[in-house]
Amino acid sequence: MQGTQKISEVKAVGMEKLFDFPTNPAHYKAQRIVIWCFDDRFDELYQEYKRRTGGHVDQVKWAGGAKDLIQAGPVRDAILGQIKAGLKLHGSEYTEIDLMDHAGCGAYGKTFPDKAEERAFYEEELKRSRDVLLEFFAVEKIDRKVNLLLADFDGLYRVA
Ligand SMILES: [Zn+2]
Repeated sequence: MQGTQKISEVKAVGMEKLFDFPTNPAHYKAQRIVIWCFDDRFDELYQEYKRRTGGHVDQVKWAGGAKDLIQAGPVRDAILGQIKAGLKLHGSEYTEIDLMDHAGCGAYGKTFPDKAEERAFYEEELKRSRDVLLEFFAVEKIDRKVNLLLADFDGLYRVA
């Protein structure tokens, strides 16, 4: 009987429905997989970025964004695992990877004398995280474009 039952008619044993909200159940291919800091100040910027780039995004929200890719260890492995899972579940040959850091990130906990030094620091960090990811991709025989993003309080920057 359950196979023909409408989803809204299924009794939720032990749970209470908080509200109705329709979600498209169709499978999708991800345009990008984004490693993005969980700092909620940048959530609207993320939504705007997603709106401008279009398509589906597998977002991996992680304190410090791309920061923990740099140092070997279980956290790096977890982030790499999420990227690999995104590619396996929703990837296509066109799926790109975006690595994000942001100004004023508490995970870094750094202060800078001026904006130029702060930007230079994050640019270097993002490049180091990309090097790690590309090394991982080489081992895994994965060939995907990797983009570097710096979120700041005045907008979003791409590192060349
Ligand atoms: Zn942060």
